[in-house]
Amino acid sequence: MGKELEHLPEEEIRAILRAADEIIMRGGRALLSKILKGSKEKKLLELGLDDCPTYGFFHKHTIKEITEKIDWMIDYNFLEIEYSGKLPMIVFSERGWTIEADQMADELLQDWNEKLTSGELTPDMTYLKDRNREMIFLFIDKIGETQDKQYIPYLEAWAEIEYKKVIAKIQQAIKVLQENDFINEDVIKQRNNELSEALEGEEPHDLSIKCIYCGNRFTFTIGEQQFYKKKRFVLPRRCKKCRDEERYGYIDM
Ligand SMILES: [Zn+2]
Repeated sequence: MGKELEHLPEEEIRAILRAADEIIMRGGRALLSKILKGSKEKKLLELGLDDCPTYGFFHKHTIKEITEKIDWMIDYNFLEIEYSGKLPMIVFSERGWTIEADQMADELLQDWNEKLTSGELTPDMTYLKDRNREMIFLFIDKIGETQDKQYIPYLEAWAEIEYKKVIAKIQQAIKVLQENDFINEDVIKQRNNELSEALEGEEPHDLSIKCIYCGNRFTFTIGEQQFYKKKRFVLPRRCKKCRDEERYGYIDM
């Protein structure tokens, strides 16, 4: 266990999630910390990870300090570790993904704004294909919410290369923009509430687990949880007494 870190500021949480997005199920904590450090390692550059908007975000910090921040992100349930064979890979928790999907949708919208400003008439939209569907739908919702007709030609160009379900969603947004449809403020409010809640993180806490053998509740401490995570053990389902007894001949179902 590292020293206890203060709650990370929102900006840092977002930066770490953005970098993690580049390597989900492809890399672990070490690679993530190198992206955030702005490492010039050949492998990292070959993978184009220096194109990540938060590459080098923590360039003033040591790798050790950055790793502590990443571990804080795992402890507070923004990121999780999943094993691919023996390799520990970074994945989003549900809360981490809520935040990242939202900021990625904003990033795509920002990118469209820049393209429009620079006068690009028909940009190639293939980069939007085969992205996470949930995030893409959120992006389309956000376009509709701008009530700005300038996006319509881009939406039309995009629909030409997409799959059915995405096309339907794009056409809805085009209709919303063309007809100046009413924007449901409650949906936006609800989404923003979920976002702020997600950004709080989940402070590590002792778990109370009911033993599946004897039915007694037992405490699974933060320290034990972290130890189990590191050792890749799954959550225990039996209290210590029942676990100890198993060593003398009980058969686990
Ligand atoms: Zn028990």
